[in-house]
Amino acid sequence: MISRRKMLKALAGIPILGTLATTAQFSPPDTLNSKAVPNLFDELGIEPIINARGTMTYLSGSLMLPEVVQAIQSTSHDFANMYEVQDKVGERIAELLNAEAAMVTSGAAGALTLGTAACITGDDPEKIEMLPNLPGPQKEVIIPKEHRYVFDHAVRCAGVKLVEVDGPEEMEEAINENTVMALYFNGAASWFGLEEYSIPHEQFVAIGKKHGVPTFNDAAADVTPVENLFKYQEMGFDLVTFSGGKMLRGPQSAGILLGRKDLIEAAKLNFNPHESPIGRSMKVNKEEIFAMLVALESYLEKDHEKEWQEWIDRTVEITRIVERVPTVEGETHIHDGPANHFPGLKVRWDQTRVKISPTELAEQLRTGSPRIEVGGNDEELNIAVVTLKPEQVSVVGERIREVLQGAV
Ligand SMILES: *Cc1c(COP(=O)(O)O)cnc(C)c1O
Repeated sequence: MISRRKMLKALAGIPILGTLATTAQFSPPDTLNSKAVPNLFDELGIEPIINARGTMTYLSGSLMLPEVVQAIQSTSHDFANMYEVQDKVGERIAELLNAEAAMVTSGAAGALTLGTAACITGDDPEKIEMLPNLPGPQKEVIIPKEHRYVFDHAVRCAGVKLVEVDGPEEMEEAINENTVMALYFNGAASWFGLEEYSIPHEQFVAIGKKHGVPTFNDAAADVTPVENLFKYQEMGFDLVTFSGGKMLRGPQSAGILLGRKDLIEAAKLNFNPHESPIGRSMKVNKEEIFAMLVALESYLEKDHEKEWQEWIDRTVEITRIVERVPTVEGETHIHDGPANHFPGLKVRWDQTRVKISPTELAEQLRTGSPRIEVGGNDEELNIAVVTLKPEQVSVVGERIREVLQGAV
């Protein structure tokens, strides 16, 4: 019998220990309890949803690409210095997007708050500590009147007052010593059906530059096309944000803030891992920071033409199925953008012959089996195909056909 001590001694001489040490960083810190891999949807009675509505936050945004999930996995096994992770990932993102600097934030909404905070505080630790309650007159952010939207709360929560302006002259007049930033909602045209903006992009940027007021473009939902990832910093906006969890298919809780180096550095000072700033409650974990980068790389490498054609094909396939019901017509529709610029499908029918409204049909899909979410109003059904998995395309078509057929 070999004694325990002798055995330990013997083991110490075996190089396997060295091997273990070098591979440790690639292996999980704990062994997986096989009982811990249940189907959590089932267990909690949450039925998965077929998302034919789009990259909506209430539907969990988008599905992360496999390589994104893999990045979350592979970076979860070791500790890292979060300042370093943010800096290095940010540098890589900036390189990829021809930006001066970049960082990963908690979604585009987090980027709006941090970007605003950066414009207010710069690198002043006292201001960072006091935000959102700075002494003295309230800081102001200029916004074109027609750009006011739900997400401007993410700017207001940094303690600023929004000053609405109508046209370039009003913008110039509104700028004063309390003005810290000017906010542009890139997708306002898409959201509000505007023909044009009261202040065109270039002019907005030029006025900002003339008066030394940083301009921030919220382009959260504005890929595709891929060119938009480069367009606005090139145009001269000092800050630009994109959601990570929409068409980039990164983590739903991540986003990208890019722009001027001094502002990105100031935004980082207002963020995790610092413990006291306004951005402390907007934490993004290291796995998601890495995963955001991987999602971006994948997106940039993707064959966008091929993907676009696949989306068109999906609309054609659903059309072919639903048009088997009398009077039903499908129309492939490409949203003008800049927000959500990709193909979708509109379906209409003669409601005196197929006696169901699109709203009622959407409700039946929502509460039926499988659960399907589509958009709709009194006139038409709006079907997003970009968030479908390939095998769900015909399922959606058949379900819609079934409900329509039942109403004939
Ligand atoms: C989705 C969206 C946001 C919020 O983005 P998150 O990444 O979900 O935080 C902000 N602004 C606009 C215009 C958006 O479409």
